[in-house]
Amino acid sequence: MIHEIFPKVFHNHYDPEKAACQDSPVMCFQGRKLLCRVEGDTISYPRAEEIVPAGGPDASKLVFLFDISGEDYFLCPGGGPEAFADYEYRDISVYGKVFPLDRAYAAIIAFHLNNWYDTERYCGRCGHELVRDGKERAMRCPECGNLIYPRINPCVIVGVIHEGKILTTQYNRPNAGMFALIAGFAEIGESIEETVAREVKEEVGLKVKDLRFYRSEPWGMSSSLLHGFYCRVDGDPTVKPDGEEIAAGRWWTPEQLQECYTPSHVALTSEMITKFMRKEVTEESLWGEKA
Ligand SMILES: [Zn+2]
Repeated sequence: MIHEIFPKVFHNHYDPEKAACQDSPVMCFQGRKLLCRVEGDTISYPRAEEIVPAGGPDASKLVFLFDISGEDYFLCPGGGPEAFADYEYRDISVYGKVFPLDRAYAAIIAFHLNNWYDTERYCGRCGHELVRDGKERAMRCPECGNLIYPRINPCVIVGVIHEGKILTTQYNRPNAGMFALIAGFAEIGESIEETVAREVKEEVGLKVKDLRFYRSEPWGMSSSLLHGFYCRVDGDPTVKPDGEEIAAGRWWTPEQLQECYTPSHVALTSEMITKFMRKEVTEESLWGEKA
């Protein structure tokens, strides 16, 4: 998955005093587009020393984001300069097609933070302009003291299993693929387990039981923290897509998936389908028995 960048290590410790060096990578966004250079399947980003002559801000204005194995990443605040040299603005979805994985991961986390900095500019309580806090990764209102932390939305990805098959769904939008899993955001006042039950019921009309937490993944595209669960059907297995968010649903055996499913190396959804396809996750491994 995208955050598995070993042997590189991601450090999110926030240090507002940290200044960019000449060769620090700088993440520049224009909307959903990221300034980068892609050669073959290798991605790289402009360095601080290249940004200034291209019309970008000087190093003191850049915002420290995080470090990956000692390499400090910075953000060009308020939108990047025009494309220059052989750097170009590419849609952020480029992260799924490029290597090394630590740079692809940097793109998605920087995207998350850029959206947050871009949104949190004024105090929602009193309307005063916010400033970056001196200690934590937070925006602070100098007028009323309001503190705003980066927004992280809890979300579920659900692999529903029934009698040796897994359910995949198709979103109700043009060109949607057939290999989504049930997914959705937690709502106020519910546990993450309750989110699983509600989303499955809403999207395909199934009641589920025996939830097994699989693993989680930070997903900057939707400012989310994804929680992957497997579960099984409780009662009637008839899939009834809601027709609004979900157009169709289908049960697959591992063998059927092997014929037509192409795994992706970045997403939790794909890993969960792939584990089932390869029989590394089975009803027996999850529940110690057949359904
Ligand atoms: Zn305020």
